[in-house]
Amino acid sequence: MKNYKSISTVLIHGGIYGDERTGAVNIPIYQTSTYEQVSLGKHKGYEYSRTGNPTREALESLIAELEGGVAGFAFASGMAAITAVLSLFKAGDKVIISSNVYGGTFRVLDKIFKNFGIGYSIEDTTDLDGLDQSITADVKAIYVESPANPLMTVTDLKAVSAITKRHGILSIVDNTFMTPYLQRPIESGADIVIHSATKYLGGHSDLIAGLVVANNKELAERLAFIQNATGGILQPFDSFLLIRGIKTLGVRLDRHVENAEKIAAYLERNQAVSKVYYPGLKADPGYTINRSQAKNGGAMISFELKDNYSIQGFFEQLQLVALAESLGGVESLVCHPATMTHASIPYEIRQKVGITEGLIRLSVGIEDVHEIIEDLERAIKAAGEEN
Ligand SMILES: *Cc1c(COP(=O)(O)O)cnc(C)c1O
Repeated sequence: MKNYKSISTVLIHGGIYGDERTGAVNIPIYQTSTYEQVSLGKHKGYEYSRTGNPTREALESLIAELEGGVAGFAFASGMAAITAVLSLFKAGDKVIISSNVYGGTFRVLDKIFKNFGIGYSIEDTTDLDGLDQSITADVKAIYVESPANPLMTVTDLKAVSAITKRHGILSIVDNTFMTPYLQRPIESGADIVIHSATKYLGGHSDLIAGLVVANNKELAERLAFIQNATGGILQPFDSFLLIRGIKTLGVRLDRHVENAEKIAAYLERNQAVSKVYYPGLKADPGYTINRSQAKNGGAMISFELKDNYSIQGFFEQLQLVALAESLGGVESLVCHPATMTHASIPYEIRQKVGITEGLIRLSVGIEDVHEIIEDLERAIKAAGEEN
């Protein structure tokens, strides 16, 4: 395989580049379900597109190269990817999840996998001693996000992987918020990396996709089996769209982060804002650890307006920034985690971990930063006057 030094180059030339037959610089969309076989028991490497498709394979080899893993797998959504990874476990096994993982991850464990006897427990993965002590014989993996949704809590990935290695269990990292351009969990010791590629990797809010990367052959073989057996694969056209999105990930993220750093600084000095959660701020408790394992603080910011500001008023007054679920697209989006992304987490647990009713999550887009700030400024003012 070609060996490029810079991730900016791998984003564009990595994986399987172009089409050998014609010289096309983009991989063709192999819109086919099946493949004619040469003779009985002899084929050209492809039999059926659930098992393997050249366009999907190009994407899978690209994400494996970007994350520095052995093999990649593309799924129909982030949740299909997560479901495939959790299918590695069996009845009696238990997975530890960090206290503010993506709401859908909690939901699939609580409402689906629990019915099959796969348990979970929620731990504060920033408390490493507590985490170490919580590992009982049935625990088979620790599953974390860093920064974690929606409070941007930073977990020390190297320390968690050291714990999992000591106990002989798996370290699984959902790297959706950072992408391999900003953070490569396998270098910190992770065994499996998961992405909702719907977010930054796709980058244009125009597709739903999930990716998994395994860092060793045995896991890769088991995941390939699960992918083919359960069938939640990504289609050829969506695989093409995702490859296309990934090519511009570097330039997009550079701008996303530049904007986010300015907006976080603006929010930090705003009198109406009581809290800012952004690991790129020096005052953030996760700043130092994040700096040791990621290029910068990313482009997701959460903040809380003071009690005398109307959350409803704030959302109503925004003009440029859209109220929507999802994140990581070129356009700025805000959401209300308590009622939107994290509504499936019971109220008591939400309060306990800090997902309050006043919390606002902002996915900073790549529009003109002054116009984003102007929009926030006007909405915050209106939110203050409404009460
Ligand atoms: C969105 C998201 C998911 C779920 O991915 P889908 O593509 O929506 O299925 C998982 N993890 C994180 C961190 C996410 O933001």
